[in-house]
Amino acid sequence: MRTPIIAGNWKMFKTVSETLAFAEAVKGKAVVEGVETVICAPFTNLPALTEAVKGTGIKVGAQNLHFEDNGAFTGEISGVMLKELGVDYVIIGHSERRQYFGETDEIVNKKVAAAFRNDLTPIVCVGEKLEEREADQTKDVCKVQTEGAFKGLSKEEAAKVVVAYEPIWAIGTGKSSTASDANEVTSYIRTVLADLYDQATADVIRIQYGGSVKPENVTEYMGQSDIDGALVGGASLQPDSFTALVEGA
Ligand code: 13P
Repeated sequence: MRTPIIAGNWKMFKTVSETLAFAEAVKGKAVVEGVETVICAPFTNLPALTEAVKGTGIKVGAQNLHFEDNGAFTGEISGVMLKELGVDYVIIGHSERRQYFGETDEIVNKKVAAAFRNDLTPIVCVGEKLEEREADQTKDVCKVQTEGAFKGLSKEEAAKVVVAYEPIWAIGTGKSSTASDANEVTSYIRTVLADLYDQATADVIRIQYGGSVKPENVTEYMGQSDIDGALVGGASLQPDSFTALVEGA
C-alpha cells in the first residue's frame, strides 16, 4: 500500500559534469517496478539532472528551499524556482541543516508549507543526537520534530509527506541503527502521526530510514514493517552502489 522510496542525498558533492556522467551510468538502471527512485542533488546540478533523467523513471529532488516564494533573501532558492526546473521532491530539515544552519522546527514547518504551495513533495528529516539516544529521549525528540513539521497540514497534505528518520549518530559514521531499533522508532513516529490525524492517514505516510544505509543492509531495513524506504548519503554517490540500493529495496 505504501510505495517504497529510495532517495539519494548527494549533499555537497558532484559538479554538473559529474552529475551528467552519473546519469549516463545509471541510464536503464536504478529503476525497479513498484519502487520510487529519487536523486536529491545540489541546486546547481538540478537543471542538468532533470533533463538527463527525463523518461528514465528517476525523479529529482532538491536538498533545501527557502520558506518564501521570492523576496530579498540573498543566496536563497525558492520552491517556485525548483518547480520550474521539474523538481518533484525537496529534503527539509536535514540534521545538517538543523545543526550547521540553525534550522528550527518552526523554520522546517514553514518550509514544508512552501513545498506544498509549490507542488513539491517534502522529505522531512527527524532524528536524535547520540546524547539524546543515550538519555533515552529518542522518541520524545522524534515526536516534537514530527509534530513541529506537520503543524497546520491538512490530512490530504500530510498523506503526501515522506518522513525520513535519521538518527544523527548514524549519519556518515558507518554506525547504522539496527533494523529492529530503526523500525521501533519509525513505528512510533507512525503512532504520533495517527494521533495527529487518524490511523488511515498515518498508514499511508511513507517513513524512510537514513544513516549508513548501503547495498549490503538496505534489504534488511526494507523488510521491516514500518520502514518504507531509505534516504542515503555516501552510498548514493556511485552509480553501481546506487543501482544496487534500488534493486535491494
Ligand atoms: P549516510 O548514508 O552517508 O550515512 O548519510 C545519511 C544521510 O544523511 C542522508 O540524508
